Amino acid sequence: MSPGAPVRPAGVMEDVAACALCGGRERTPFEDYRTAGETFPLVECAACGLAYLARRPREADMPAWYDLAYNARHGLYRDPAWRRPLYALLRALLRLRYEGGDAARLWVRRLAWPWERKWRRILATHRMERITRIGAVLDVGCGRGAWLAAMRRWGFRCHGVEPSAEACARARELGLDVACGQLWDAGYPDACFDVVRFNHVLEHLHDPGRALAEARRVLRPGGLLIVAVPNHAGIARQAFRQAEDVPFHLFAFTPPTLERFLTAAGLEVLELRTQTPHPFNVYAHFLSHARRMLAGAPPAVREGAEAFLSSENPARAREFAPLAAFFDSVGLGTDIVALCAPAPPGARPAADGEAGVRILQSFPREPSDAGSV
Ligand SMILES: [Zn+2]
Repeated sequence: MSPGAPVRPAGVMEDVAACALCGGRERTPFEDYRTAGETFPLVECAACGLAYLARRPREADMPAWYDLAYNARHGLYRDPAWRRPLYALLRALLRLRYEGGDAARLWVRRLAWPWERKWRRILATHRMERITRIGAVLDVGCGRGAWLAAMRRWGFRCHGVEPSAEACARARELGLDVACGQLWDAGYPDACFDVVRFNHVLEHLHDPGRALAEARRVLRPGGLLIVAVPNHAGIARQAFRQAEDVPFHLFAFTPPTLERFLTAAGLEVLELRTQTPHPFNVYAHFLSHARRMLAGAPPAVREGAEAFLSSENPARAREFAPLAAFFDSVGLGTDIVALCAPAPPGARPAADGEAGVRILQSFPREPSDAGSV
């Protein structure tokens, strides 16, 4: 999705002199992006490869940018009233499954197997196969709280952090506990969350390392950190050089630079892979790129090409899905997904160049329940 051309709010820009990951000052230009009458250069650190905006709005001015261009894109979701008794029943089943001991777990799996299958699909959708109990979740950058409202249905205790006052107000309308501001200002106790999630949030932050370190602090031992970001090394970015959401995305991660951020924050990376949840987006990038290249062509050529491309044709998107699966398998997918656990105290962060990239083809189908409470 594109926010369109935002109107430039008041406030001055800041220049970023050094890489936030390694401190290096050498960098190579990747592409300059123009929006709202400003130019935002995306550069790559010559030492570690981290891509970032070398010029960006100041942190204090970001809410004005978001309010102008961003929040209107995200809607509010409410469960229909008739579904509530159904969710109450499912929550009771979940309590049995996770807290009822071996016999109850077996009973749920054997007798309620269609529901058990659905529950596993739900966990997979939310990348939560590794959870061991229905506990407390924190969604950092929760927006209007749609994901938290969905988790609450299953019995999770839900908390959110969101810098936009407007989005906070809407999430609170849903009865959610949302701290308005940055994660490190929320003042959560140590080790209080089972799941912390940054879903397409880290790239928006002025200081991703600080946010990850705070996430590490509030995760309980055995807790799960879920991070999803756009993949700067992905085919869509590298082939078409398009950046989404300038100037909202201040960083552009690759699998190695994301892994270095995570390990430097005291997190152990359990799984890291690339993923293309919307193959159609790659196709749309290809379309807009093709159109730009054809802009100077004679009208007859342009019209012929347009008829061939046939624009937003869903069948074309389906044709693209196998290719997207291939891109994912070689690390060129549009997104990076990482699952992490707090590293044991005293664990040494990986040294420069030591962090190996582990791109897994898929998550395990049947996660072990050995750790279930
Ligand atoms: Zn660097």
